[in-house]
Amino acid sequence: MFSWFGKVSFVPYTKVSDFAVHLREGRLMGSECSKCGFATFPPRADCPECRSADFTYRQVSGRGTLFTWSRIDAAPTGFEDLGTYTVAVVDLEEGGRLLGWLGDSIAESDIQIGMSVQVVPRIFEEIEPIKLYYTVEAPAVD
Ligand SMILES: [Zn+2]
Repeated sequence: MFSWFGKVSFVPYTKVSDFAVHLREGRLMGSECSKCGFATFPPRADCPECRSADFTYRQVSGRGTLFTWSRIDAAPTGFEDLGTYTVAVVDLEEGGRLLGWLGDSIAESDIQIGMSVQVVPRIFEEIEPIKLYYTVEAPAVD
């Protein structure tokens, strides 16, 4: 199931594997501890606050603010073919922090720490084996 992600080696994925199913269907899902209510993104099977293993998924909007960013000129092993790319870390409105690729809607010259952004789930078929990811975009104008 997590083969959709391509390169996942550190997530205790057997407990949160439905995360990939939701992402494939365009939903960003965090988790909420059933015991103490602590909310996380990405979903955590074991609560970092109270250690309870009981949790429920909760959908997050993807709205947030830019915490930090970095342009990657020397790609790590497995990403060499992608050339230069930019990653961004977003503090989500509902809690939790997300690392995504900076999308086309934000020029590097326009990046400002603390700016409002919108995370967008993507299905990405062109480059194997990465098929699911999200980008960090400028928020839609209301
Ligand atoms: Zn808890």
